[in-house]
Amino acid sequence: MPESPPEIVYTEAREMKYMLYGCNSKSHPRASQICKELKETGEITNDNTSTIGLYDHDRKVIHLNPIIRTYDKPVRDSVIIHELVHHMQFSADIPYQCFGQLEETAYDIQDRYIKSKGRKDIFTELHLSPLYLFIIFSCGRDDIFSVPEEYENELPKNN
Ligand SMILES: [Zn+2]
Repeated sequence: MPESPPEIVYTEAREMKYMLYGCNSKSHPRASQICKELKETGEITNDNTSTIGLYDHDRKVIHLNPIIRTYDKPVRDSVIIHELVHHMQFSADIPYQCFGQLEETAYDIQDRYIKSKGRKDIFTELHLSPLYLFIIFSCGRDDIFSVPEEYENELPKNN
């Protein structure tokens, strides 16, 4: 078990997205356009999703979008459990080739949890696309941001 539980804080979606894309640290050149858009409009072009959970493994903090309070308990708890898995993964220093491998475990546990509560799978409950997850798990993406994009639980904005 980890030495200590992570801090859990509510963070507005815009700020979370800002962190997600590494805008709060030294910005990767490829991130600068995104950061600029975020700063000016609070939105990212072609990004119709909203981050609801994020684990910052440098600071050991779980960020939750305040909107999560409007979800039912099983869905809400499943998101927290997903982020807790990341906390345990980094606390245990488990080896990984890419962040996608860590996501696969986190989504698997989240899926089993939500189904154990009599709900449907995460694809249905969280409106996740199987293709989206397949791409994440495949280790095909470059991990260019300080907090990788894969670290988010996403819901469509109009949900
Ligand atoms: Zn994750």
